[in-house]
Formats: sequence, structure tokens, C-alpha cells
Amino acid sequence: MTKYTSDIGLEVHVELSTRSKMFCSCAVVDNTISAPNTAVCPVCCGMPGTLPVINRNAVELALRAAIALECDIAETSIFARKNYFYPDLPKGYQISQYEYPLAQNGRILIRTDEGEKYVRIHRAHLEEDTGKLTHVVQDENNHSLVDLNRAGVPLLEIVSEPDMHTVEDVAAYSRELRLLLRMIGVSSGDMEKGVMRFEANVSMRPEGCEELGTRVEIKNLNSFKAMENAIIYQMGIQKATLERGEKVHQQTLGWNESEGKTFSQRSKENANDYRYFPEPDLPPLIVDKDWVSEIMKAMPELPNAKRARYENDYALQQEHIERLVEDIHTAIFFESCVQAAPSLAPKSIVNWMLTDLFAWINTNGASLGDLKLDPSSFTNMIRMVEEGVINQNTGKEVLAEMLESGDSAELIVGKKGLQQVSDSGLINKMISSILEKYPDELQDYLNGKDQIANWLFGQVMRKAKGKANPQVVKKILQEQLDLKTQE
Ligand code: ADP
Ligand code: MG
Ligand code: ZN
Repeated sequence: MTKYTSDIGLEVHVELSTRSKMFCSCAVVDNTISAPNTAVCPVCCGMPGTLPVINRNAVELALRAAIALECDIAETSIFARKNYFYPDLPKGYQISQYEYPLAQNGRILIRTDEGEKYVRIHRAHLEEDTGKLTHVVQDENNHSLVDLNRAGVPLLEIVSEPDMHTVEDVAAYSRELRLLLRMIGVSSGDMEKGVMRFEANVSMRPEGCEELGTRVEIKNLNSFKAMENAIIYQMGIQKATLERGEKVHQQTLGWNESEGKTFSQRSKENANDYRYFPEPDLPPLIVDKDWVSEIMKAMPELPNAKRARYENDYALQQEHIERLVEDIHTAIFFESCVQAAPSLAPKSIVNWMLTDLFAWINTNGASLGDLKLDPSSFTNMIRMVEEGVINQNTGKEVLAEMLESGDSAELIVGKKGLQQVSDSGLINKMISSILEKYPDELQDYLNGKDQIANWLFGQVMRKAKGKANPQVVKKILQEQLDLKTQE
């Protein structure tokens, strides 16, 4: 039976996190909060006689993305009119870039269980977003409502080459892209808010065949899950079609999330349906080399550089590195901790962070940014555990209390008398009294029930109200038991 290879290319639209729109001074607002049509002006409403002006900050953010994606950046790129009518596009055209995009020929390194590989970026260009339509039924009539708050919001469209072959590749690429854009402050990447949207192009060919198969394009994929489901579904359909000896037809599909099916939207439009031509109202976009090198100098550390540094400098395990790198606030908190306590092993900082601290944050619905705990007080607590002032379990209690009250570890330990007892004289006495209190259990131990030793250990720790140094208790208890055995 013939085996098939899938080829997948993604077109990703991201709204850039500028304060104002792409070609006018209207504010970019959060549509989940702002009332419809409150951030609009004659330019973004498409009134005749108005003129667009390029938002320099949008270009700067696009350049940052282009640099992070290792693209060639065009010194001169051209805005183009893409003509089509749609009720949420009052101008009758969208300003985009066509023949001369801002950036081309980039790549992203992705990681899957199969290893590492590059996915090439075909191009990245600037354009403006459209408005938003909402369809409602009122008094048994259908209505479509137009909100133009989103019309003219700066978009970067990032088009990959068809270098992905599995949904794992797609997941790794799209997540890495979002991480990258977030880390360089280009976009929030919030898919629930539609800030990042995907279109997937999928085709199949017999294994070993060089020529790519006919693709279908699936539009409006608004979550990673939806995209992955839609691609898996399409791969199934195409494989069955090819196995029947039929041809796949090039077309544009939508994705019905609740039915888990793609549906036909229209047969594939061609570029010439849009009658692209250079935008007469805008000059060419000139990006000189000095500007690019200025932006390059100010670039924050990229995820891959961070991963490598955490591995080389701190010898952290991969899984922990990923968790630190996946959120910029987590990475910043971790690095501040390392700086605050250079004598602590970074590994133990990470352990406390990812287990106890994050568990508290999750159960309390808090976030790293609004804690009553700063990196230096957090590491002070860890240091007290490592130096044996308090034991591990007391450390967990102290941490919870620090998070509740904002008090320092020293204050809490002092006030509550939580210092660990490591004094061997005191511990010897406690153990003797426990062995006297439980003669039967002791006899069981002496008769060969080894596990009684653990139980006795528990009794001693209880008597010490958890404050005894467990290592010291273990050692002295064993010594006393050994003596009894010899008697
Ligand atoms: P359009 O703008 O009409 O959608 P593009 O040429 O810009 O067309 O390609 C869009 C996307 O389709 C790119 O991400 C590209 O990698 C992908 N693509 C092109 N050909 C194929 C194919 N045969 N199989 C899968 N993806 C493809
Ligand atoms: Mg397309
Ligand atoms: Zn406007």
C-alpha cells in the first residue's frame, strides 16, 4: 500500500502591540472590553478624501520580528491595495504588501520528539486588519453588526514554507513562533482575543514523490487545538481521496469546531482576483541599515539563546528550562533569584519555584507579578533550609506564610520558634523517651520487623513537632537501635 507524506505551510496573522492603528492615530483597543465603533476615524472608516500615514512603531515591531525570524529585510518595500469588498472592509480594499514585502527568507528552529529542525519562513509583511462582523437574530430577522474598532489595526502576516509534515511539527512551530513574538514584545499572541490567527495549507503526496500535492487552505483557526484537529481531519480526507485514485481539488475551507469537520467556503481565489496594485496614497517604505542595526542592538535575548544559557550556566534539566523560558515573567523571577543568592544552586531555586511557589500561585489564582514575595526574601527562605536552620517541610510552611503575610522568613521562623533542632544531645533524649514509651514496638523491631524503624522515626518527629533535623534523627535512632540489638 502506498504511504503518503503530508506537507503543511502556515500563514499566521498577528496583531502588533502598538498603541495606535496602522495608518491613523486611532487607539488599538481590547474588543472584549471596548464598546463597538468607539475607536474609529475617517481614515479607518474608509471615508473618501482621507490619507493614510504609516505607523513607525508598527514598522519597528515588524522589524523586530523579522530580525528574530532571521529574515532578509528589504530596504524598500511597497504597500499594495488588495481589492475586495466585504462589509467589514469599508474602503473596498485592504492595504497590504504584495510583490515587495518587508521581510523574506527567514527560519525558526523547532523541537519535536524527532529532534530539531528548521522551518523556513517564506515572507513576513505588514498589513491592516479588517473590522468585525457579528450576526444576530432579532425579532425573527437576521442582522449583521459591524464593529470597526479592529479595522486598521496593524497586522504582521508570517508565511512559512511547507516544511511541516506532522501535527507535532505544526504544534512546535506555532508555539515557538508565539513564544518568540511574546518575548520580543511584538504581540501578546492571545488567541482567545484573536490577536494571533492561523490558516493552514495542507497537501499530501506519495512517499518519495518530489512534487508537492494539491493543497487545501483551512481558514480561521483560532486555537492550537482547532488547528491541530483541522489538519488531522484534512489529512484523513486527503489520504482517503488519493487512495480511491481521485484528485484533491484546490479549495478554501472553514473549520467547524463543534462538528470537528472542515466545510467548503469557496473555491480557491487567485491573486489576480484581488487586482493588486501599488498603494497610490503611500510612499515606499524605506528601512535604512542604521535603523535595523539600532533595533538589533536593543533586541532582548531570544528563547534559544536563553535555553542555551540556562543549560550551560545553570545545568538545568530540559523540562525545567522549558518551563522557565515559556513565560518571560518566570524567566525574570528566576534570574533575579540567581542574582540575589549566587551561593545557592540554581537547581534548588528552580525546584522551589516550580513546585511549592507555583502550586501556591495556582491554588490562589495569583501571578508572579503581584506577589508579596520578592526574589531575595524567597531565596533567604531557601538558604535557611539548605543551611539546616529549618527543615524542608517547615520551609514549605514558612513559604506559604510569607506569601500570605509578606513577612520575611527570618521573622516567621523567629516568631514561631520554628528553628530546627539539630542538637544531638536533645535528639538523643527524645529518642530514648520514645523507645521507652513503645516497648512492644521496639521488641517487634528487634524480632526482625525492620519497617518499625520508620514508624519510630515518625514518632520522634512528631514529638519534636516536625522541627527536628530529620537526618540527625535518622542517624541517632539507628545508633540507639543498633545498641539495643547488640544487648
Ligand atoms: P496564498 O496567499 O494564495 O494562500 P501562498 O503562495 O502565499 O498562497 O502560500 C500560502 C501557504 O501555502 C504558504 O504557507 C505555503 O507554504 C503553503 N503551500 C504552498 N504550496 C503548498 C502545498 N503544495 N502543500 C502545502 N502547503 C503549501
Ligand atoms: Mg493563503
Ligand atoms: Zn482611525
